[in-house]
Amino acid sequence: MIELRGVSKVYGQGRQEVPALRNVSLRVEYGEVFGVLGQSGAGKSTLIRCLNLLERPTTGEVRVDGRDMLSLGPDELRVARQGIGMIFQHFNLFSSRTVAGNVAFPLEVAGCSRVHIRERVAELLELVGLSDKANAYPAQLSGGQKQRVGIARALAPRPRVLLSDEATSALDPETTRSVLGLLRDINRQLGLTILLITHQMEVVKSICDSVAVLERGRVVEQGKVVDLIARP
Ligand code: ADP
Ligand code: ADP
Repeated sequence: MIELRGVSKVYGQGRQEVPALRNVSLRVEYGEVFGVLGQSGAGKSTLIRCLNLLERPTTGEVRVDGRDMLSLGPDELRVARQGIGMIFQHFNLFSSRTVAGNVAFPLEVAGCSRVHIRERVAELLELVGLSDKANAYPAQLSGGQKQRVGIARALAPRPRVLLSDEATSALDPETTRSVLGLLRDINRQLGLTILLITHQMEVVKSICDSVAVLERGRVVEQGKVVDLIARP
């Protein structure tokens, strides 16, 4: 589903060179929840930006769904990006739009019909348990509810994979559990592949099938969570 081969990323030049990723190879299988665990500065955000091609690796190969992401032209890249959903630590919702308006946004960009958008938004709000909040504004929601809106919006264009950038890091432990439970349900119900980056071992233990541990830009461990990490 996702394959990185020998990916390195160096920021800056000459004496200012910062190697953020060093020869990273990893493989995410279809339908799994894959965690990338690492401390701050380990290179997790760089890895996610190399996957959605907001950043070009200095060397190496990035394949999503068998497609060589580095060889795509601008139009193909736009299409490939539509297959990648993203959720964020700080939710990144539009404060001036309602919950329904936020979820509708990617469908409006894709030029879907009003009728289709209304149906799809209702279906997504039901999936994330926010049908009664369709007309609320983000400021009226709790952190957990905001992230549910973020998840619904990410799923709207039916992505092949969901990338999560520290999606529960701003949430308290109980809300974290509930949002992770929702992600697990979505993974199982829709068979959606999820790659998440986190600095929290608890997140990896609670929902990930596989994990890669990143330290100073290198993958130092990779495998099934059951083999690598003893559960309590
Ligand atoms: P993480 O997400 O794990 O905290 P990052 O990918 O943000 O790690 O950063 C990895 C390393 O790359 C750090 O040393 C960071 O300072 C550096 N870095 C990240 N982005 C840039 C950038 N745009 N320019 C220069 N250095 C950067
Ligand atoms: P905003 O004020 O945030 O721009 P809109 O009223 O323009 O919100 O609605 C944005 C989109 O969400 C529209 O396509 C609309 O059909 C859809 N929508 C609004 N309310 C609902 C709802 N209760 N259920 C499903 N879709 C809705």
